[in-house]
Amino acid sequence: MDEFALIRQYFQPLQRDGLRCGVSVGIGDDCAVLNVPPGQQLVVSIDTLVEGTHFLPDTPAEQLAWRLLGACISDLAAMGASPAWLTLALTLPHVDESWISAFSAALSNATQQYDIQLVGGDTTRGPLTLTAQVHGFVKAECALLRSGAKPGDLICVTGTLGDSRAGLESLLSYSSAHNASLNHSPSDENLEYLRQRFYRPSPRISTGKLISPFASACIDISDGLLGDLNHILEQSGVGAQINPTALPLSAALQAFADSDTAQKWALTGGEDFELCFTVPPQHWTDLQGQLQHHDVPVATIGAICDKQGIQLFRAGAWHTVDASGYTHF
Ligand code: ADP
Ligand code: MG
Repeated sequence: MDEFALIRQYFQPLQRDGLRCGVSVGIGDDCAVLNVPPGQQLVVSIDTLVEGTHFLPDTPAEQLAWRLLGACISDLAAMGASPAWLTLALTLPHVDESWISAFSAALSNATQQYDIQLVGGDTTRGPLTLTAQVHGFVKAECALLRSGAKPGDLICVTGTLGDSRAGLESLLSYSSAHNASLNHSPSDENLEYLRQRFYRPSPRISTGKLISPFASACIDISDGLLGDLNHILEQSGVGAQINPTALPLSAALQAFADSDTAQKWALTGGEDFELCFTVPPQHWTDLQGQLQHHDVPVATIGAICDKQGIQLFRAGAWHTVDASGYTHF
């Protein structure tokens, strides 16, 4: 099967509903031709998954499709944007039709769920690498940035933290040296939940849009709470005080790991794809009103302060932590 037949069979059909959302020309020409609605701005983000670096060899194609799209769309969510268009660069070691067919089917479901349309891409041969570029819309000048946090703002997070890290640890079948800190017999249901949180993140699109008029800064948690919050702090020129006991932890995580480990993963574990955002006190009551009927839980975990860096409240005192120590390199 050549490259063009592959695109025709597995990717062009994802436009089966016809072209929508401002697409004049989709897959099949040299470029897509796209129209941004009046009064809106285009927000664009790209993410790459490399086998061996971002996912384990032999990860099912279906999981990769959800993982790739979830991670990308989470960036749109963090800007308060609505998903619109997707381009996909696929590098495949060989043409494995059962893999491509499973990937395409899952991608089709994911694009429907997130209401984003595939409009183009590139298909090449090489070590398995998946790149997605997402395009979304925000009302002009209303994108939610990292740079607006002020002392006195409350710090909030969506959902629960640390689950994805626990899911990954369970997949790696955590080395015996560390097993002492893990519960040896978590129910399969908990394990399944944690693994799904790793494989199939839930980008918080609706929450991003809901908080957008109220929040002063926002980021999605891809590298871990401390590291990502630190980006807000650096770009806003402020510091933060966090109460670790306020971190939202799932029941599954608490069944899987002891409380110290669970808290550590909630602070530093990557790839939860929840949102961390700051809210000025004068917007707090209005936001609470909006969140009352919202289906994603939001927890308040601390406040922005003048003093640079991140302080954690532990054993009755504030302790400064080195958030920049938690990077990939
Ligand atoms: P060109 O050689 O002009 O760059 P290609 O032959 O790479 O074009 O692609 C032909 C068409 O198929 C283009 O519209 C391109 O966007 C689309 N396409 C290629 N690969 C993919 C893919 N993996 N998913 C979606 N569309 C793709
Ligand atoms: Mg061309």
